[in-house]
Amino acid sequence: MKYNYLVVGSGLYGATFAQRAHAAGKSVLVIDKRPHIAGNVYTERVEGINVHKYGAHIFHTNNKTVWNYLNQFAEFNRFTNSPVANYKGELYSLPFNMYTFNKMWGVTTPEEAAAKIEEQRKASGITNPRNLEEQAISLVGTDIYQKLIKGYTEKQWGRDCKDLPSFIIKRLPVRLTFDNNYFNALYQGIPVGGYTKMVENMLDGVEVRLGVDYLEYKAELDKLAETVVYTGPIDAYFGYKLGYLEYRSVRFETELFDKPNFQGNAAVNYTDRETPWTRIIEHKWFEFGKDEQGNDLPKTVISREYSSEWKPGDEPYYPVNDEKNSALYAEYKKLADAEKNVVFGGRLAEYKYYDMDQIVAEALKKCLVAN
Ligand code: UDP
Repeated sequence: MKYNYLVVGSGLYGATFAQRAHAAGKSVLVIDKRPHIAGNVYTERVEGINVHKYGAHIFHTNNKTVWNYLNQFAEFNRFTNSPVANYKGELYSLPFNMYTFNKMWGVTTPEEAAAKIEEQRKASGITNPRNLEEQAISLVGTDIYQKLIKGYTEKQWGRDCKDLPSFIIKRLPVRLTFDNNYFNALYQGIPVGGYTKMVENMLDGVEVRLGVDYLEYKAELDKLAETVVYTGPIDAYFGYKLGYLEYRSVRFETELFDKPNFQGNAAVNYTDRETPWTRIIEHKWFEFGKDEQGNDLPKTVISREYSSEWKPGDEPYYPVNDEKNSALYAEYKKLADAEKNVVFGGRLAEYKYYDMDQIVAEALKKCLVAN
């Protein structure tokens, strides 16, 4: 056997694992079926703008180990995510905070906002939230649920809010302060020069082969290494033999404009049910509209995001962690646990709605154990 590790997938999980294993003196081969590294954090430069080709990725974490680890490979800028919600032309601040409550209800103090939420929660009769709808209403009341959550969530997940798990909405902070920072994280930013450059630095000195489909050549590839680190979909690994897990896929319509400013913000969410896209990303604002020399960029690139149910051949993005799929995943997990010399890691192999920092933390942990 030629390698200690065959890492399948060069996204953040694979790149972290490969980097650590290589640094520990192990021989590592990374393969990826795409023609580029970096998985879904891949960025591509267009007119000086780092375009997030597989959707917006804003790095944020409270984990100092992860933050320090990644800072070896990239300098992070001070970008703070503050998306704007557009509900039929009315603009609201996100996440839900005093600016949102003021615009929605005219309230000006935290007490008034809390009272308004409490009044709406009481009127709904919800005491023990059992799904996303009930969780949302008990957190922010019915008005915000109707205007800023229901439509967006149903477009994003293709399911009724009553059929979705409540943890999804708990990703969003609710604050009685004037703070538009979308994340409750100590550290936040975008790697200067794009994510691709960061992953390139992580994989420095590691052998990488692109355009190689692991599952197509599994038997031959498995012979190359003692241990396989698999980061693709877990159901695909097992030939879907227990059935298909459900994923949400995303289609991006990307447009270049010969003007400097399209929407004045990196992310605008369209929270009504009728607009077919969920959000529009204007990529240059992740880097303040400037190139690496600090010059203003004259053009702009935007991506409209359309969410759809995954079908074979599409790219999977989001696992659908409802009861049915969680039960099926548990069955696949048993098969995975019985698989010798294979590590299953990352959003697709663990069927989990991980954020980037959690992925890096998991890979760092796993690599310590493995080595
Ligand atoms: N969400 C919403 N309205 C918004 C933004 C988010 O209702 O304007 C809900 C929606 O259900 C979404 C979830 O919050 O799936 C998590 O949003 P997040 O921004 O964390 O999603 P991601 O950026 O991972 O797509």
